Amino acid sequence: MELHTKIFKISPDNISDVIGECAEIIRRGGTVAIPTETVYGLGANALDPIAVKRIFYAKGRPADNPLIVHVASVEQLGHLVSEIPAQALSLMEVFWPGPLTLILKRTDVVPDITTGGLDTVAVRMPDNVIARELIRVSAKPLAAPSANISGRPSPTSAAHVLHDLEGRIDAVIDAGNTCIGVESTVIDMSGKKPAVLRPGYISAASIEDIIGEVEIGYNDHVTEEESVPRSPGMKYTHYSPSATVLLLEGSHDLVQDKIREMYNDFTYRGARVGLLVTSTGLLSLTNDMFYLGSKDEPEEVARNLFLGLRELDERGVNIILADGSFNHEGVGAAVMNRLRKASEMIIRL
Ligand code: AMP
Ligand code: MG
Repeated sequence: MELHTKIFKISPDNISDVIGECAEIIRRGGTVAIPTETVYGLGANALDPIAVKRIFYAKGRPADNPLIVHVASVEQLGHLVSEIPAQALSLMEVFWPGPLTLILKRTDVVPDITTGGLDTVAVRMPDNVIARELIRVSAKPLAAPSANISGRPSPTSAAHVLHDLEGRIDAVIDAGNTCIGVESTVIDMSGKKPAVLRPGYISAASIEDIIGEVEIGYNDHVTEEESVPRSPGMKYTHYSPSATVLLLEGSHDLVQDKIREMYNDFTYRGARVGLLVTSTGLLSLTNDMFYLGSKDEPEEVARNLFLGLRELDERGVNIILADGSFNHEGVGAAVMNRLRKASEMIIRL
């Protein structure tokens, strides 16, 4: 069924009206795409199985891939989880509100559909006033995965949300571009030893500064479908545009030379090639180029990554040559994780 998707553009004088109207949609079991500091999320009442089903349906998301539940207070969290280990509390004190998702043991209040049937739930408090206000005014924790069709690059603007989901969701709150650009770090605090299940803006090193050693429980490849990963999302394709992405890794100079060579090769053979790069040196090669930012500024690269993948797709290129030679520290590790998962092939130089 085609829905009419309401678009609410935020301005300084309409915030409380928009929040009020969207809170009503949430209370009635509808879906609202919301800005967060990471990417846009598709929110619905996490405690209402029918509302949560609408998220899975709108996104085409596999039913066994659980959702992150967003809260606006620690009190609200108390209803959802059966215990908060001391180390989890320390992380919440330092990083919340912010882009850190904790996996904790859940209570029966959380429906199976929200957690994919697991006995744990993923929770976070977003560092975005509009998201938190919507949670507070609706008085509902919000299940909110990224607001894109499953498998596609995550949305960093309301335009991206509408491109994928117009007619499939009740509303979107347009509050401009998101500032981080990649999804939250996910850490499992429900087992004996904390384990990072997805890299994000908050690095494993900065988590270790607070709680000591953590396991790295992810890899940068799509896990085989038959195996049982610690995080169900690991076995699905993610972040991919329609074009085929080829990722080049190695020293900056070698990567630039190889991009030039491969561009010429593919173009000669009739392909339309787009470039996703961190150097202005390739500017003269083609107009189908998207500059991600300086190789020394992974935060800038993170902000532009999904926009770049989507823009090159819009132009109709068949192949995207992606430059993976930027600084991999901090959020750079998260960007590499997304790029590797989006790629058909990785060329190491
Ligand atoms: P998304 O909502 O698309 O940003 O993805 C959320 C990620 O968290 C996915 O990779 C999920 O598989 C993972 N996740 C959510 N809940 C759990 C959980 N209870 N245990 C392990 N991983 C989870
Ligand atoms: Mg997602």
